[in-house]
Amino acid sequence: MNIVLMGLPGAGKGTQADRITSELRIPHISTGDIFRQAVKEGTPLGLEAKKYMDDGQLVPDRVTIGIVRERLGKDDCAEGFLLDGFPRTVPQAEALDETLKELGRSLDHVLYIEVAEAELLKRLTGRRICSSCGATYHVVFDPPKQDGVCDRCDGSLYQRDDDREETVAKRLEVNLGKTRELVDYYQSGGNLRRIDGAQPIDKVTESILKVLRGAIR
Ligand code: ADP
Ligand code: AMP
Repeated sequence: MNIVLMGLPGAGKGTQADRITSELRIPHISTGDIFRQAVKEGTPLGLEAKKYMDDGQLVPDRVTIGIVRERLGKDDCAEGFLLDGFPRTVPQAEALDETLKELGRSLDHVLYIEVAEAELLKRLTGRRICSSCGATYHVVFDPPKQDGVCDRCDGSLYQRDDDREETVAKRLEVNLGKTRELVDYYQSGGNLRRIDGAQPIDKVTESILKVLRGAIR
């Protein structure tokens, strides 16, 4: 099953992608995670991406498209994949269509998690990530059992640099227009499904699995 999970920053893509990919046993491909890993390792890709990420901007299409193209060609994507945070622009969506065509495949689902902008601000500024396993928490909406400590692996939680209030507003502004264009792109292609992302986390997962299972039957 080849899936794209769309939504503005903070909509819940990463949270839902974790749950859905473990249920469906397909790889979770997050361009944001790939860039953050590259930044951590100090690779040339990381140095390039960091300039844009710190400023709340999108990494240029030529860089992002190349990375996804390479990743989708890996063996573990043979039975399907879930893309989280890609595509984010129409040229990225077109490049994805082209790449899949070359691989003799196509998208089965494009899911758009919708959440109001005011809510996104609260979600992003309260988000915390495990420095060891990458699990996502929220200080109010999805807190760990012990403050600052990951439930899964006891790792310490941190706030992403780009989740600070100054950068969050910029990221939302940058992504709003692009997301609107992408929604139009997929809506006219006919396979966009809207998911109400304002529901509690478990309910959002149920809604997504319902759409995906409906398609399996
Ligand atoms: P994205 O990957 O789309 O940027 P995340 O999955 O990282 O978003 O979620 C952003 C923040 O909002 C996280 O702190 C997460 O715990 C929280 N969150 C995710 N889904 C919900 C939800 N349905 N209700 C409340 N908070 C949520
Ligand atoms: P995310 O983890 O999805 O919130 O992404 C973090 C940052 O990585 C974004 O603010 C962008 O700078 C960059 N990024 C992630 N995915 C993309 C993409 N598809 N296109 C351009 N930049 C991206």
